[in-house]
Amino acid sequence: MASSYPPERFLFSPGPTQVEPRVYQAMTRPMVGYLDPYLFQVFEEVSRGLRVVFGTTNQFTLAVSGTGSAGMEAAISNFCDPGAKLAVFVAGFFGERICEMGRRHGAQVVRLDKPWGEVFSEDEARAFLERERPAVVAFVHAETSAGTLQPPRAITRPAREIGAITIGDCVTSLGTIPINVDDNDIDVAFSCSQKGLSCPPGLSPFTVSPRGVEWLKARKIDNPVWYLDLKRLMEYFLVSRRYHHTAPVSMFYAVQEGLAAILDEGVEQRFARHLAAHHSFVRRIEALGLQMHVAPGHRLTTLNTVRVPEGLDDAKTRQRLLDEYSIDIARGLGPLAGKVFRIGVMGPLATEDHLDRFFDAFAACLAAVPAATM
Ligand SMILES: *Cc1c(COP(=O)(O)O)cnc(C)c1O
Repeated sequence: MASSYPPERFLFSPGPTQVEPRVYQAMTRPMVGYLDPYLFQVFEEVSRGLRVVFGTTNQFTLAVSGTGSAGMEAAISNFCDPGAKLAVFVAGFFGERICEMGRRHGAQVVRLDKPWGEVFSEDEARAFLERERPAVVAFVHAETSAGTLQPPRAITRPAREIGAITIGDCVTSLGTIPINVDDNDIDVAFSCSQKGLSCPPGLSPFTVSPRGVEWLKARKIDNPVWYLDLKRLMEYFLVSRRYHHTAPVSMFYAVQEGLAAILDEGVEQRFARHLAAHHSFVRRIEALGLQMHVAPGHRLTTLNTVRVPEGLDDAKTRQRLLDEYSIDIARGLGPLAGKVFRIGVMGPLATEDHLDRFFDAFAACLAAVPAATM
């Protein structure tokens, strides 16, 4: 009996995003064992590609098994000792998630909040960090729930001044937006495979600065999450190749190929293509009489939050896009539920042709959907 076959969607969503066809191909390559020398070549190639997209020379650059949240939990559990003070900048859903993980790992969490759709200035960050003097500082580079891009230096510069370890959630920025981990003084950065890298979900790219590695080596306690113990992972991937857990081999083939596609295009060209697609997207949104939620200059250019116009039923609009055009976009979360559409323009979809297709469908749905009933 044949198993069912998925519909072919256009994933204009925050993630998973559209997968490069050559990545699907790569995933059908033959299985090898977790200690096979070939697999270690793949790991090497993945680490090399990840350094380019992260913008780092960090030797500790690898992919952790699991989705972006596994990377987040690896960062929090390995760098926040129980009782240590963790300062989190919260202006969206994922900042909240970092706080929640910190709480569960016994950190003393302090937070600075802003409305979803705003970013933090260096003065605000410095005042907060000088008052709190935390050991660890975490922020979200690309806040997917709000559609904002946080300038890293505004947080890492004052964090460095007080000697804190800095953690950056780069889950939605990696592969489409420059992160410049080294220049931006981010000690620990994590991401995922299914957003800017145009691969399926399953791996969490991760990088640690030499300063962060020293910190890890000096750590006295065992990581409370055995599976995400970075010292053990470092040993398996980078040093002794001693078994820790079975690497998701086919996912490594996928990310290896996804990174090769990015390097073939040229990383700068890819960033420029995404930026051009964003500008085109905003022009087209405004031409429809709609508004972006975030002020220009603070926008996450690959994930657009568009205000739902007064009286429009956002759930019906999204349903119609999916049913009639096979186009997937996302809803607003938390305080933005019902108020914004979240529309990703990433990877193979970040082209004028795909934007034409999207806007033909979107305009038709806006015109066809009846106003929300009061
Ligand atoms: C998607 C996302 C996550 C969580 O990643 P999963 O892959 O869903 O586990 C974390 N942070 C940000 C900013 C995200 O966009």
